[in-house]
Amino acid sequence: MKLDITKGIQRKGVDVAFDLLEAWGEDHWNGDAISYAGPVSVSGSYMLADETVIVRGEARARIQSPCARCLKPAVTEVTAELEEAFVRDVGQEVEPGDDQYMYSGHVLVLDDAVRTALLLELPSRILCREDCKGLCDQCGQDLNINECSCQKDLTRRNPFSALASLLNEDEEV
Ligand SMILES: [Zn+2]
Ligand SMILES: [Zn+2]
Repeated sequence: MKLDITKGIQRKGVDVAFDLLEAWGEDHWNGDAISYAGPVSVSGSYMLADETVIVRGEARARIQSPCARCLKPAVTEVTAELEEAFVRDVGQEVEPGDDQYMYSGHVLVLDDAVRTALLLELPSRILCREDCKGLCDQCGQDLNINECSCQKDLTRRNPFSALASLLNEDEEV
């Protein structure tokens, strides 16, 4: 995702509006394979303060990732505020751990900044729907589609869980 800053270079200190739209493919986040459903959009403005470019805007994307309970694809709409400074790359050595964004010529490459901002807005647990019942942790049955008999069998075989549920009932009275 490239931002041409020619206009801003000609008029330093002036906010220049921009709108970008780009299709992104597969990605990884927190060990999950994710993908971008529909194009990623960024709109906002940038300004050159001396040689540093200040970019302010809003990024939007629809991110598809596996449901935390049933693993089916779930789409999350994400909106992220973007405010980053891009420093002109003049060939100086970058110190390790310095995560400053750089640019050279008349083009800013926004991908890293936009991606980071968007993914930080993703909830840590994504569900296909609020009341997703998930998979049975014993037989793997998708409990949204069909009940399985594992739960009942477990209660019958384990007298302690039956006792525990009795105790819980007592507490509630
Ligand atoms: Zn689910
Ligand atoms: Zn089961």
